[in-house]
Amino acid sequence: MEINALYIDELEKLVEKYGYEPYRSKQIYNFFHKQNRNDIENSNLPKDLKEKLKAEDIKTVDILEEYNSKIDETKKLLYILDDKNIIEGSLMKYKYGYSLCLSTQVGCRMGCVFCASTKAGLVRNLTPYEILGQVYSVENKYKINISNIILMGSGEPLDNYDNLLRFLKLIHSEEGKNLSYRNITISTCGLVDKIYKFAHEKLPITLALSLHSTYDEKRDLIMPINKKYKIKDAIEACRYYSEMTGTRLTVEYTLIEGENDGQNNAEELVNILKGLKVHVNLIPLNPIEEYKRQRPNRRSIVSFRKKLESKGLNVTIRRELGADINASCGQLRRNYKGG
Ligand code: SAH
Repeated sequence: MEINALYIDELEKLVEKYGYEPYRSKQIYNFFHKQNRNDIENSNLPKDLKEKLKAEDIKTVDILEEYNSKIDETKKLLYILDDKNIIEGSLMKYKYGYSLCLSTQVGCRMGCVFCASTKAGLVRNLTPYEILGQVYSVENKYKINISNIILMGSGEPLDNYDNLLRFLKLIHSEEGKNLSYRNITISTCGLVDKIYKFAHEKLPITLALSLHSTYDEKRDLIMPINKKYKIKDAIEACRYYSEMTGTRLTVEYTLIEGENDGQNNAEELVNILKGLKVHVNLIPLNPIEEYKRQRPNRRSIVSFRKKLESKGLNVTIRRELGADINASCGQLRRNYKGG
């Protein structure tokens, strides 16, 4: 196990194994998670301990490329991992601070037809440090504090459950970044069994369900996960999650022209979400090569929103931050040929 994703009590066991006193574990944790560093040789630990730690698995995540929007301050980022796999993310500036969108897997195995991240399947899960290191490398490089985290990059977070959970505990830890769970959002295509499991962790993290369709026959065709877990089951799991954690659910709905953007879809969406504490986020489709559908025109998008609002739903249309560099999920990584 990578030692820059061990909890303090686990580090304590490690340093004791090496014949050092337990307090060293806090020093090491501080170096990794407060100073955001992993160059152990430059720490002020005893020389012999440094040597021992250096022989352990210490992961790194480096920023490989950045793409800057010319219309706002959004950056798209490519990171490189120790095994040369590449992942992507984006950094957005809001009034309240910086928000970073993280990947949780290299590739994805969920197979949603409109999503670029899944086209080459799942390569592997990210380790806890590889998720965390995206935050640290951005904070170090740009000398900023990330105040919000959204797990909406490549991968299905709940398909990498154990690593996700460790990441969450590390980033929340008082001795580390100390990020509030309330400032974290996890987006899922709806792994119902994992939503129930996650509900029992009772962390006040916002869950975002990628719904994208109001009819099972149609959702089956664009999101294969629907063959296993139906819309009703996914919504029920989210309701349970929301009650257990006291959080408001987000529903993501990607608008695809002629597929799910009709007034009947808006009405059905209202029915499906009845009685839920929910916020609807409409995402105009970013067309990809393998999925030739288009986003609806602006007027249709607004009238879809109005329909939902007229029934009392809370709705936003995803702000098109960095629209000029807005390669949709996974497209940057796939198009990167090195350089
Ligand atoms: N696996 C997670 C995170 C995926 S990415 C999930 O399914 O929620 C975050 C959101 O972007 C999801 O709602 C996803 O369905 C959506 N998305 C993916 N590709 C898209 C595209 N080409 N256009 C618009 N939204 C897309």
